[in-house]
Amino acid sequence: MTDKTSPTTFADLGLIPTLVERLEELEYSQPTPIQSHTIPYLLEGRDLVGGANTGSGKTAAFSLPILQKIYQQDKPNSRRGNTVSHLILVPTRELASQVAYNVKSYSYHLRNEIKTVAVFGGVSVNPQMLALRGGSDIVVATPGRLLDLVSSNAIKLDQVQTLVLDEADRMLSLGFTEELNNILALLPEKKQTLLFSATFPEKVTTLAQHLLNEPVEVQLQSAEASTLVQRVFSVNKGQKTAVLAHLIKQHQWRQALIFVNAKNSCNHLAQKLSKRGITAEVFHGDKGQGARTRVLEGFKSGDIQVLIATDIAARGLDIEKLPVVINFDLPRSPADYMHRIGRSGRAGEVGLGLSLIDYDDYHHFKVIEKKNKFCLEREQVAGFEVDDDQSEAYFAPMKPRAKPAGMGKKKRNQ
Ligand code: AMP
Repeated sequence: MTDKTSPTTFADLGLIPTLVERLEELEYSQPTPIQSHTIPYLLEGRDLVGGANTGSGKTAAFSLPILQKIYQQDKPNSRRGNTVSHLILVPTRELASQVAYNVKSYSYHLRNEIKTVAVFGGVSVNPQMLALRGGSDIVVATPGRLLDLVSSNAIKLDQVQTLVLDEADRMLSLGFTEELNNILALLPEKKQTLLFSATFPEKVTTLAQHLLNEPVEVQLQSAEASTLVQRVFSVNKGQKTAVLAHLIKQHQWRQALIFVNAKNSCNHLAQKLSKRGITAEVFHGDKGQGARTRVLEGFKSGDIQVLIATDIAARGLDIEKLPVVINFDLPRSPADYMHRIGRSGRAGEVGLGLSLIDYDDYHHFKVIEKKNKFCLEREQVAGFEVDDDQSEAYFAPMKPRAKPAGMGKKKRNQ
């Protein structure tokens, strides 16, 4: 029997030599914890809920067993019509193309056998329709575009054997409910279902139960295991831009990813930084897909040093050796905080997740800490110290004073 707790190599996990050889070429010297804890179960065909820190190798964890399944079980070229055998759903376009890229890379030595197609919105639908012709082994898709393709008969989902929800908490959240339900209704009852995410809020776990059949649960999130350092700086209201510019210049980070909460704020902040001599690019949902791809490629290649983004960049994106993520605005959801900072400190690299908070943020940051079970020392930036009446202590709730005897609620009309 495979030892599911402490295997040391990919071969120990039950992967075939062709895949193991490819992983060696990619310099994956050994499986990450999420890979060693999930791959043996997935090869057995079990349903699974996998939780592990962002950047911990989840893509390989779910895609290697799929590739092996196709290679071993399906006859080569058994693709038919416009069907798909294995469907990976992701929340953003960029993640769709990143996951498809990784899957294609892992299947490099099997490529004649395996056809992987990425489908996502914002780009012309025709090349995707063409690519789906004749059937596909793996489709990596965003839900909206997938449904468009279904309605124009470019793809059929009734032969799906494996369904993966990557960034599952996002996929099961309100914004995707309708689309996801429409897709689920088109899938066969019998299939292997996998949910992967870095965060699993309780509500989502409950929602997920009806999708899964006796799932294995692997939860490996751990603050200690992370190579990511978190810091939080208190700043005076109105001084965030000045502090940010100061930090960027002081630390001379090779690159920085800065998160704000609105598309407009991206452009405003870029203009304000530009006045302080810092060139920044922006990345948000109002940009055309061509521009989004160009900016992301520029950032990944290191040509762009400072990128200001909304939460569309928070999920799953793999930017190699990104030294720092900065929350200029705090994200509304505590889970998004983890996803944002998880763009840094990936695959065992050292990383930094830094947040700037002013008095409007104090309470919300406490909620983020509480939900994510950490607590950070409030730091200040030399030269930008917080005024006494804007400090967090000033806003801390006062202990209720004991009421003097006899001051209880009086009955009216005595
Ligand atoms: P993911 O969490 O899937 O986005 O993966 C994060 C990064 O880790 C990617 O750059 C992967 O190429 C890399 N990675 C995944 N598995 C391994 C491994 N076993 N050894 C080294 N790097 C890995």
